[in-house]
Amino acid sequence: MSQPTIESILQEDRLFPPSSEFSSQAHIKSLDEYKKLSEAAQADPEGFWSKLAETELHWFEKWDQVLDWSNPPFAKWFVNGKINLSYNCIDRHLETRSDKPAIIWEGEPGDARIITYKQLHTEVCKFANVLKSQGVKTGDRVGIYMPMIPEAAIAMLACARIGAAHSVVFGGFSAEALRDRLVDADAKVVVTADGGWRKDKIVPLKPAVDAALDAPNVPVTTVITVKRTAQDITMAEGRDHWWHDLMDAASDDCPAPALDSEQMLFVLYTSGSTGKPKGVVHTTGGYNLYAHMTCKWIFDLKEDDVYWCGADIGWITGHTYVVYGALSNGATTVMYEGAPRPSNPGAFWDVIEKYKVTIFYTAPTAIRAFIKMGDEHPNARDLSSLRMLGTVGEPINPEAWMWYHKVIGKEKCPIVDTWWQTETGGVMITPLPGATPTKPGSATLPFPGIQADIVDLEGNSVGPNDGGFLAVRHPWPGMMRTVYNNPERFRKTYWEHIPPKDGKYIYFAGDGARRDADGYFWVMGRVDDVINTAGHRLGTMEIESALVSHPAVAEAAVVGKPDDLKGEEVVAFITLEGDQAQDDALIKELKAHVVSEIGAIARPGEIRFADALPKTRSGKIMRRLLRSLAAGQEIAGDTSTLEDRSVLEKLRGEGS
Ligand code: ATP
Ligand code: MG
Repeated sequence: MSQPTIESILQEDRLFPPSSEFSSQAHIKSLDEYKKLSEAAQADPEGFWSKLAETELHWFEKWDQVLDWSNPPFAKWFVNGKINLSYNCIDRHLETRSDKPAIIWEGEPGDARIITYKQLHTEVCKFANVLKSQGVKTGDRVGIYMPMIPEAAIAMLACARIGAAHSVVFGGFSAEALRDRLVDADAKVVVTADGGWRKDKIVPLKPAVDAALDAPNVPVTTVITVKRTAQDITMAEGRDHWWHDLMDAASDDCPAPALDSEQMLFVLYTSGSTGKPKGVVHTTGGYNLYAHMTCKWIFDLKEDDVYWCGADIGWITGHTYVVYGALSNGATTVMYEGAPRPSNPGAFWDVIEKYKVTIFYTAPTAIRAFIKMGDEHPNARDLSSLRMLGTVGEPINPEAWMWYHKVIGKEKCPIVDTWWQTETGGVMITPLPGATPTKPGSATLPFPGIQADIVDLEGNSVGPNDGGFLAVRHPWPGMMRTVYNNPERFRKTYWEHIPPKDGKYIYFAGDGARRDADGYFWVMGRVDDVINTAGHRLGTMEIESALVSHPAVAEAAVVGKPDDLKGEEVVAFITLEGDQAQDDALIKELKAHVVSEIGAIARPGEIRFADALPKTRSGKIMRRLLRSLAAGQEIAGDTSTLEDRSVLEKLRGEGS
């Protein structure tokens, strides 16, 4: 037997079955039903997906072949099928849902808009015509650099309608980060806004576009700007246009063309937690199906739901679960411009109360921020409309899960902890809320049709509770098709890390995980972040969760620091709850706490207090930066997706 890739040291045995009240009304009502679905999908994956594609989506022409995997790792789904994602998200709902709110939008300053399916149809058709009038054709790329306003979703849907690929760049990125992405994606048009609101300030966007375009190698010839914050901006003659001017002149007649199932839908860059972001390419038909099915079954979407996914559209979660998956199901999706912020600690709960949100989906980083802001804020609002909750982005520490369960879910809402990636297009490992008993900190079981496994470097499945590499053994419709303009990087990063055997390719996700005796998956952190100490290979998640379970600790990140004796020593960076004293007594106590929770091998050699941890703009802890800091090295590698540079400066100053 080969060496374990990661060892597991933390045991969590609390179990939360869904209530019979929830189960009885759910799309998938029992673990038994889930198992039957999964077994059917395992026996005949193509039959499983094609039946759903037929019954759940509109196709202009049916496919000749469900999956073409003759040239792995390059997959084609629903070969020669003709489809239009914008049609599936809008037009097909017009008969029965034309006056139903498609988008409920709330701006950070408190302004609001409700857009019905009929109105969304008009706006998307008009903007599709605007794009065409600016020379955008099927196959072109369009950059979208916008705040969380409805026009961002309208621009995405308009691109999808005419078969132009969008590349959404998070509105908080710098001009340089924007330029890199526009150049890499070879975009000829950029859609932006004068500015957006973030944490009570105007983030100027158009000036960043101007700066990004001020270089000879940028392919953009047209900029379309929404007026949002109304500060002064400069408009370049010939290149720059106001959204409202172009929309006023545009016709609202734009029938959705039949596009190829494999038409490129978007290029989206990963969060950059582990290195330089990758330009992930998704295509139309398979992605549409996967977004639709996962959104429907995981969030148990029903006609009357008010569904709120709190992600920014600059991330894959915003693409799949704010826009496409929700609208494809004819749901009402909430878009909120604001971020969790100290000046308005109840803002999120106000949105839930105001719109009677039934489903809420957010990230562990936000949950930890809410915990820090205090229970009095959610407790002062009426959250009784909520019927289920979700989380995504990082492993959720069991204590944060318990808080979410108790304080937000009032112990009655199932929680779906959804593991997935930009690359996977949609959720891969998750509870189904009416079927799966949950365990805090576990993403539980694979979505039906997903052949997830935990393997060693040779691709052999590892035993129960052994740590290994999270991997997928069979293609799925939502899978990425390539890295934009870099098929070799695609092949190497995801498909050759575990070498293909007998022509069988295994998708390598880059995360370490274990599976318990019930078959539940526990994501233990990034493979890149594994700490090698005294002959043990430890994932980051379990040590961090042990630290967070101490009442003084708000957040924790652990990394390995080179050590002559042990190979590496565990170094923990932590932020504290409230006004705790940052003293040696607490350090001693925290070290002892880790030992009692998980054992002496995980005892941090060093604990450092921080005001904040370095995170990506999508809220993920960037351990690679902390690793350099702990080792006393200069920080190397891509930092373009770092949220707040001053966090690093501060940590550097505080380092011993
Ligand atoms: P990069 O690939 O550029 O380093 P990234 O991996 O952070 O960035 P994303 O695609 O946004 O980019 O994030 C996917 C990763 O997020 C997963 O590989 C996993 O590490 C983590 N993740 C997402 N959801 C969960 C979850 N529910 N539990 C544990 N980890 C999760
Ligand atoms: Mg990644």
